Amino acid sequence: MNIKNFFNIDDELLALDKEILESLKQRFLEIEDITEYNQLKVLNAFIKNGVSEANMSGSTGYGYDDRGREILERVMADCMGAEDSIMRHNFVSGTHTLTVALFGILRPNDKVLVLTGRPYDTITGVFGIDSKNDGSLSDFGVEYNEVALLPDGTPDIEEIKSRLSKDNYKMAYIQRSRGYSTRPTLVIEDIKKLCDAVKEVSPSTIIMVDNCYGEFVEKLEPCDVGADLCAGSLIKNPGGGIARTGGYIAGRRDLVEKCADRLTCPGVGKEVGATLGMSRELYLGLFQAPHVVGEAVKTAVYTSALFGEMGYEVSPKPFEKRGDIVQCVTLGSAEGLVAFCQGMQSGAPVDAFVVPEPWDMPGYTDPVIMAAGAFTLGASIELSADGPLREPYAAWMQGGLNFHSAKAGVLLAAQKIRNGR
Ligand SMILES: *Cc1c(COP(=O)(O)O)cnc(C)c1O
Repeated sequence: MNIKNFFNIDDELLALDKEILESLKQRFLEIEDITEYNQLKVLNAFIKNGVSEANMSGSTGYGYDDRGREILERVMADCMGAEDSIMRHNFVSGTHTLTVALFGILRPNDKVLVLTGRPYDTITGVFGIDSKNDGSLSDFGVEYNEVALLPDGTPDIEEIKSRLSKDNYKMAYIQRSRGYSTRPTLVIEDIKKLCDAVKEVSPSTIIMVDNCYGEFVEKLEPCDVGADLCAGSLIKNPGGGIARTGGYIAGRRDLVEKCADRLTCPGVGKEVGATLGMSRELYLGLFQAPHVVGEAVKTAVYTSALFGEMGYEVSPKPFEKRGDIVQCVTLGSAEGLVAFCQGMQSGAPVDAFVVPEPWDMPGYTDPVIMAAGAFTLGASIELSADGPLREPYAAWMQGGLNFHSAKAGVLLAAQKIRNGR
């Protein structure tokens, strides 16, 4: 066994590893089929748009006539099944990117309907769900509305249609990934059903998708199945582990233009923005993204199978269809959760010597523990895990730049738990 030369993994766990890899052969072929499709989609977009080495040198000052930036944004639009895109290192996070898109489209007295229950934690503050004088959308007079999920965690299509037929909504908002919730992640087929329902009842309502963690997990993207706009973070899937910061918005040309006017200035939009030295890594990251996402999905599926076999509750299950790279493992005890994160950290390429401990993070009610030994601070396309120290003591895990190293991290997490028993 290769791993024995480098890490202390017991024979019983190694036998389980072997058995699980055998059982996942067919599953991995399915993942590789999606990876190949998306890799060829991205390659084709590079070729079609005539990407050249000269596009990667970068501009300074205002960034006028930056051909490299313009071509990158056309490539990204093609990858996302969209008419146009903005892809910039200037976006500071996924939340910032989504904020620019929301403020770009929505105006005072507009109404938003969220179709997928309560959004991701940081986005609730952008909508201003329960706040006043804070610069949130509600502070600017945008009305927030939400359709609760059904008890099984899926969207309530009948209720969505009924709400859309009774009132005039400027935007319908969909969150693809589960984030840190226990609801299932939407697969593209689910997003298509939601888009069809919105178009049927209210064709002029703009459909926007929070695409974080979803890019390149399936063959199609939200704009391929009816979404008007989608957005995400470059330190997740579409940055391929190479982009050190940034975000993208892709969709209908008129909507992307509005978002660009919000990112820079009205009337100026996409025409400015110095790329400095960043273009090369955004190109390279996007090119690598389908492969890296495939490795992350394999890591998630492997983790699901391994911890499932060890008797833990896992979601999604190894053979379930996936719409994102997130894997939830319920460890059932504080010791288990802490051991999982500490074991995983010990197998990280960066900061492996650090021992993570639970801490009272501002804004959270319970202490949180995190494992992240990444080249890019906070990059969750790199192997990472975290969870709050409360029932049911679940860890949310994602990423892995390559399956071989990520699998070592996962095995070390499993070994640490076994050692503590
Ligand atoms: C990561 C994420 C975001 C954005 O988070 P940032 O940390 O600001 O990049 C938004 N929505 C979902 C579902 C996410 O997973």
